[in-house]
Amino acid sequence: MKSVSMTWLSKTDLANLNSGESVGNVTELKLYANQQKPYVSGQSIRRALFDTVARSNPERFLCSPETPCGDVANCWSCDLRGFLATEKGSSGTRRWSPVKVSPGLGQVESNIVQDLLTRHSEVEKKESEKKDSRIAHVQMTENIYRCNVVLDLANVGIVREPIIEDKKKAKKEEKEEKAKQLVKGYKTTIDIPLEEKVARTHAILDAVYHLNGFAKQARSAASLAPEIMLLAMQDTYNQRGLDVLDLNNQREISVKKLATVLKEHQLLGNKLVVGWTPEMVANEEEILQLFEEYRVPVMTVLEGILWAKEQIRDQV
Ligand SMILES: [Zn+2]
Repeated sequence: MKSVSMTWLSKTDLANLNSGESVGNVTELKLYANQQKPYVSGQSIRRALFDTVARSNPERFLCSPETPCGDVANCWSCDLRGFLATEKGSSGTRRWSPVKVSPGLGQVESNIVQDLLTRHSEVEKKESEKKDSRIAHVQMTENIYRCNVVLDLANVGIVREPIIEDKKKAKKEEKEEKAKQLVKGYKTTIDIPLEEKVARTHAILDAVYHLNGFAKQARSAASLAPEIMLLAMQDTYNQRGLDVLDLNNQREISVKKLATVLKEHQLLGNKLVVGWTPEMVANEEEILQLFEEYRVPVMTVLEGILWAKEQIRDQV
């Protein structure tokens, strides 16, 4: 098994999950589709996801992402987030994250409301002279977001480094050949034990289930935790079919698109389940019937996550 592909829908209450630029004292929403729908950036979802992992496993995070320690064997932050270290002279200063996250796209056009916040503080009262600094506006909206995470299982806890040919020898080569000659291959320099690999991937799956902790949500309970989720265990790494749960304006999933994607998953030999929460999409009956047709087990999201954890435990 090479990857776990997860695409899901999540309904939010009125919230500002990821604000765009603040103009004056208005915190705006990030919008796309001709400013009709809100979105949450991939970076923001990544941060929330890793914060959720870190809250449950604080002792496994040995550094902060701003100053990466680079210890992939022991530090979950460096292994799972990846890093780009700027210090000179040390090898392995860059790592691509094995956790791929796309932006959360609001699926339906919805009204944006502007909430008025006032700040109260006895201490500040005496010092603050400007009245308007104590008032702020935050744009909020409710929506159903579609989010994706693809977990590149084959690269969790693994570091491969290029085998560099002796530079003296390379100097003799033609200039054009030089770049090709320098890297002779790759060697695995870090490969964590299997139990540790399972622990890390399980932690990511748990964090997807619990996903919360968005920047603007310090005091409210908004989350992007999945309510309808398609989980696929894949023998190749790919990011295909991740828009399969997209909704139209009538809050319907496309039956044709879903049938095509399920067929391809089947041909590839991927194992699939769907976690389902009733009354989220308008054409529920039709969609559930299609899952039955393609023999995709329908369960709750938690059962889906537990199934995926079991698959990983058995396979890795
Ligand atoms: Zn680290």
